[in-house]
Amino acid sequence: MEKIKVEEYKKSNSFFSFKKYNDPKEKKDVLNKIFKLSQDNRNFEIFNDYQRTIINLAISDLKKDYEDPDVFNLKENSLAEILSLDSKDYLKYLFHRYRYEIFPLKKKIDEYPPCLQIEPSSICNYRCIFCFETDTSFTNKKNGFMGTMNLDFFKKIIDQAENNVEFITLASRGEPLVSKKMQEMLEYTRNKFLNLKLNTNASLLTEKICHSILSETVKTLVISADVADHEQYKKIRVNGDLSKVLKNLEMLNNIKEKHYRSSKIITRVSGVKFSTEQNFDEMINLWDGLVDQVAYVDYNPWENVYVAPSNNISKPCSDLWRRMFIWWDGKINPCDVDYKSSLSISSIEEKNLSESWNSEKYKNLRLQHLNSKRQSIKPCKSCALV
Ligand code: SF4
Repeated sequence: MEKIKVEEYKKSNSFFSFKKYNDPKEKKDVLNKIFKLSQDNRNFEIFNDYQRTIINLAISDLKKDYEDPDVFNLKENSLAEILSLDSKDYLKYLFHRYRYEIFPLKKKIDEYPPCLQIEPSSICNYRCIFCFETDTSFTNKKNGFMGTMNLDFFKKIIDQAENNVEFITLASRGEPLVSKKMQEMLEYTRNKFLNLKLNTNASLLTEKICHSILSETVKTLVISADVADHEQYKKIRVNGDLSKVLKNLEMLNNIKEKHYRSSKIITRVSGVKFSTEQNFDEMINLWDGLVDQVAYVDYNPWENVYVAPSNNISKPCSDLWRRMFIWWDGKINPCDVDYKSSLSISSIEEKNLSESWNSEKYKNLRLQHLNSKRQSIKPCKSCALV
């Protein structure tokens, strides 16, 4: 398939197409509930002044309820997330979601990143054609990039994140389920975060892992798949087998039906829209009944950032105000486009989460971007993310 040419990858609006199979409540009902909660001062008692200010900003924007990227709103994916929570957590969710959506636009940070991506494994069993896992200088074991996170390390990060960062994604450069410690890792996160996402190709799901996923650990399970055709899938998700993925999803759903009927997990198939030949309607037909949502995200040419020519982008990269990445070996990186860590900020052994997020090195990187100097930084100068 011929790849789409990418001018800019707008991270804040990266969902290309989005289809929900279930829409149990209307957005209006959720908004009314939020407005009602906000009218009772007792619901604000658990928050400090800073948090109250942010929540009020979020509510004030929600009252406007219009489609403007600079105005906070609940997009379909956020709406599904909020619906999966107890209403007592709605205001807390707004605090964190506002930081995630609006802080990168306003170029604002506070003590912690809005989202933390933790990498259980940099190793992947697939070699997708648009992924940096096709770079053999990255996957060659001798070069030190490949590995899996040890459990104590993971627990240390979770302890620091708990009550500070509510949006956690388990995944970055590799396939998380390659880690043999995944079950223990998931279980250590139980009931600790408003939204813990696990991104996986689902090829390595086992019964045991399904139980761990469904027992109040993962809030959103994102399964990566881009096409509905089995032969095309094999060509794109090299080493993958779509039948196996579909079978594994059936297994997960059966276990859910039998043991976790009250689970509010959100399941989403998310594909990379990298070619005009991909058909979203076919994806919807294939996954109907197996997952709650299907999405395509825009393609960002992850696979060649170190060799791609410089582009003309001078806008700052929004991810510098949105997410922080911790890799299996404890390295802290501002993004996973820079998959070989040339921008590495520090290590979790040197600085804790808050110190890293607010470190001079990170601030300087943000400043260079704000001053339209990303063209002097490798690989930012060849990266399309804004
Ligand atoms: S390489 Fe630079 S511009 Fe691209 S995502 Fe990373 S920090 Fe942002």
